[in-house]
Amino acid sequence: MSDHTMEHDRLRESTALYVLEALDELERAEFERHLATCADCAEEVRSLRTVAGALPLSVPQVDPPFALRSRILAAAGAQAKKSPTVVAMPSAPSSSSRLSRAGWLSAAALLVLSAGLGVYSWSLGQQIVGLRERLTDVIAQLDRSQEETAVAVRTASATQTRLTVLLAPDMRQVDLEGQPAAPRASGRAFWSRSRGLVFTASNLPPLPRGRTYQLWMVSADAPVSAGVLSPDQSGGVAETFSTPTDVPAPVAIALTIEPEGGLPAPTGDKYLVGLTH
Ligand SMILES: [Zn+2]
Repeated sequence: MSDHTMEHDRLRESTALYVLEALDELERAEFERHLATCADCAEEVRSLRTVAGALPLSVPQVDPPFALRSRILAAAGAQAKKSPTVVAMPSAPSSSSRLSRAGWLSAAALLVLSAGLGVYSWSLGQQIVGLRERLTDVIAQLDRSQEETAVAVRTASATQTRLTVLLAPDMRQVDLEGQPAAPRASGRAFWSRSRGLVFTASNLPPLPRGRTYQLWMVSADAPVSAGVLSPDQSGGVAETFSTPTDVPAPVAIALTIEPEGGLPAPTGDKYLVGLTH
């Protein structure tokens, strides 16, 4: 075993006392000499200081220092009473007083450090709670801005699709008239076999619960569903549908009311009808 290792083993227990400034001058000088050459002890001192440093910051309101001090003093008293033989040994007075003092100081150091650790972990806990709250806020903000971005992207892309249909060279416009079920309603369809169908309407009656409007491309063979739609509160709607490029040429476009989700073939009242020319 090297001199350094022996010294390290002997002085290691002084670390806590050193941090608490409980070593006498000679002990401190010796420990500091060792500290300058020992990375392990230096690291130990650093970590104990972190713990001890959290103590005065976090306890002032609860007044534990006084209670703690009483406990330390009580512990010290008990320790002193427990070692009367050592104290009474006249042949080794300096070592005995050193032993007993080191004993109760170690107890004191343990109490302070464990209280310190408790406070330290409590304060870490508080910091984590605070950080978690801030993180939740930030995530909520991100979610909001992502939603806004998504809405903007959807709007932009719907607008672009609409323009694509409206500007298509094969675009055909069909005006739809309100039927007896919705005499005030009117609509307009823009259909391009290559690019899809844009449908707008206004003054559509509000839908009963469990019902939807469904748009049909009516050919000589059979009506083909373009899709379902719900008007806004004022009865207006603007929707874009992609339609099969091989759909039979429609002779009319019609809007009916159907059960929610729509049906493969129309069953309900016609609300709007327009003939292609
Ligand atoms: Zn050491």
